[in-house]
Amino acid sequence: MKSTAIYCQYCHQRLFDLMSGTRGSIEIKCSRCRRVIRITFSGNQVKESSE
Ligand SMILES: [Zn+2]
Repeated sequence: MKSTAIYCQYCHQRLFDLMSGTRGSIEIKCSRCRRVIRITFSGNQVKESSE
């Protein structure tokens, strides 16, 4: 299965690998810069946003 690596938009720390075909949204705190990043994904489309 293909996966996409998700990186922090601030410090480019690798956060996790997302399996293609997954749908949903999560909030994750970057382990390096401690910022909270909201990620929404649907199929192969990934959007990162922040407050
Ligand atoms: Zn970061």
